[in-house]
Amino acid sequence: MAVLQHELQHVLEYASGELTALGYLSNPRHWTYAVRLTPGIRWSDLGAEQRASLAERLWLADHGLAGDGELERLRTIIPWARRETFLLPREAGKVDRRASAETEGAQGRKRS
Ligand SMILES: [Zn+2]
Repeated sequence: MAVLQHELQHVLEYASGELTALGYLSNPRHWTYAVRLTPGIRWSDLGAEQRASLAERLWLADHGLAGDGELERLRTIIPWARRETFLLPREAGKVDRRASAETEGAQGRKRS
């Protein structure tokens, strides 16, 4: 399944026009698979195979098959994997209010 995520990242980029066959073949940057999660790493600086490799690693991390902290690191790098990507602004507000209410409730229980 992780390999499927890798290939789907390519499909996504071809479908969106972010990557073309000519663009891939004419730029050696796209042929490198290895990528280290160094501080300051940016999605836009990565080649196509590196981006697909991170999509693959995200799937592994999301299924408990990666080291500590890798899932959250990948979520900060991969634009479509960011948590706020999945929330409409209205939904994000609900989450924030619910989290606040839970915090307040917990504090209230501690006091009583
Ligand atoms: Zn690939």
